[in-house]
Amino acid sequence: MNKVVQQITVLGSTGSIGVNTLDVIARHPEKFRAFALTAHTQVDAMVAQCVTHQPVFAVMGSEKHGRAVQSALQGLGIKTAVLWGPAALEEVASHPQATTVMAAIVGAAGLAPCIAAARAGKRLLLANKEALVVGGSFFMAAVNAGGATLLPIDSEHSAIFQSLPENPKIWGDVIDKIILTASGGPFRMRDPETLKNVTPEEACAHPNWSMGQKISVDSATMMNKALEVIEAKFLFGVEPAQIEVVIHPQSVIHSMVQYVDHSVVAQLGTPDMRGPIAYGLSWPSRIQSGASAINFETLSGLTFESLSSNRHSDRFPGLKLAWDVLSAPEGSNAVLNAANEIAVAAFLDRKLRFDQIHAVNTACLSQFIPSAPSSLGDLLALDLEARSVALAWVGKLAA
Ligand code: NAD
Ligand code: MG
Repeated sequence: MNKVVQQITVLGSTGSIGVNTLDVIARHPEKFRAFALTAHTQVDAMVAQCVTHQPVFAVMGSEKHGRAVQSALQGLGIKTAVLWGPAALEEVASHPQATTVMAAIVGAAGLAPCIAAARAGKRLLLANKEALVVGGSFFMAAVNAGGATLLPIDSEHSAIFQSLPENPKIWGDVIDKIILTASGGPFRMRDPETLKNVTPEEACAHPNWSMGQKISVDSATMMNKALEVIEAKFLFGVEPAQIEVVIHPQSVIHSMVQYVDHSVVAQLGTPDMRGPIAYGLSWPSRIQSGASAINFETLSGLTFESLSSNRHSDRFPGLKLAWDVLSAPEGSNAVLNAANEIAVAAFLDRKLRFDQIHAVNTACLSQFIPSAPSSLGDLLALDLEARSVALAWVGKLAA
C-alpha cells in the first residue's frame, strides 16, 4: 500500500478552512499527515488539534499564546514542538520536511508564509486569497522561481481549474471568458436603502456557506467576489475584461470557463469546502472528501441573475473596484485589500456602518497612487501604510 505521501503544514488550522482541511487529512491517514499546524490566538482549539493530529510543530501568534499551548501539551505528554511569531510561520511553511502547505490564514498576514512556501517549491494550496491579491505578479513570480505547484482552493477558482485543460500553456489560446458565480450573499434581495442598518450578525449569516467572519462580511458586500476577480486574473493569466461575474443563488455551479468556440465547461458540487480541499490535496487524482453528492431529483433549479442591473450595482458597489484596481498600477490591489481588512474589522467591532465599508475602500484608493511594488518588503510597507490611512478614514466616518 501507499506510504504517507504528503506532510502538510496547515497555516490557519483553527479556522473554517483549516478545520475542513484536517477533516479531509484524517480521512486518508495513509496519504496525508499534519506536519505543522498554526493559529493566531486560539489556544484551546490548537491544543485539541495537537492531541488529535500530533503534528511535529505548532505555531501561535505570540509568546503568550505559544507558552499556553506548550504547557498544556506538556501536561498531556504530547511531543509537538511549539513556536511563535511571524518568522515561525515562514519556517514551517518552508520546512524541508513539509511537502505541502495549506494557506488558510485570513488576510495579508498570510502573505509572507505563502511567499516562503512558494520560494521553497512546495505544493501550495491557496485558500488565503488576500495573499495573492496583495502579492499579485510578485507572488506568481515567487511560485515560478521556486518551482512551486500552486493549486487554488477558493471554490470558484478550484472549479475553473477543474474546468480548464491540463496544460496551462494553451489556456491563453482557448479561454474566451472566465465566469465566476456568486451566491449574492445574505443581502441579494435587500433594499439597498436599508443596508446602513445591517448588523455583523446579519452580515455573517450566509445563506449557503459556513465560513470565517471576514469572508462572510466580504460575501455580504460582494468584496469577496472583487477579491476573487483579482485572484482569477493572476491565477489564470487572463485579461480583466475576460472575467465575468454572474449571480447564481443556489451555489451549485461553482464557476465556469467559456471557450473560444463558445462551449462552456462548469464544475458542480454541494457547497462544502472539503470538495476543493480534497481536490487540491489529491490533484491530479481524486479522493473522497466527505462532501455529500448533489441530489438532482430534489434540486429545484439552477438560476442566474445579471449583476449589471441597477438593482445589484446599488447593492454591491464594491464589485466594480476589482476592475478599477486591475487597470491601475499593481500596488492598488494591496491598498484595496488593506483598506477592506481595516473596514471589515471596524464593522465587526461595531465602529463602522456596513455601507461605510465601501466608503473607506474608495477613499483609501483615491488617496494613493502607488507604484508597482517589487519586493516583499515593498508590499508589506504599502500594506501597513494603507492600513493607517484606512484607520484614519474609519475614525473620520465614525465620528
Ligand atoms: P477563519 O477566520 O475561520 O480562520 C482564519 C485562521 O487564520 C485561524 O486559524 C486564525 O487563527 C488564523 N489567523 C488569523 N489572523 C492571523 C494572523 N494575523 N496571523 C496568523 N494567523 C492568523 O477564516 P476562514 O474562513 O478559514 O478563511 C481563511 C482564508 O480562506 C481566507 O483568506 C478566506 O478568504 C479563504 N476562503 C475561505 C473559505 C471558507 O469557506 N471559509 C472559502 C474560500 C476561501
Ligand atoms: Mg470563493
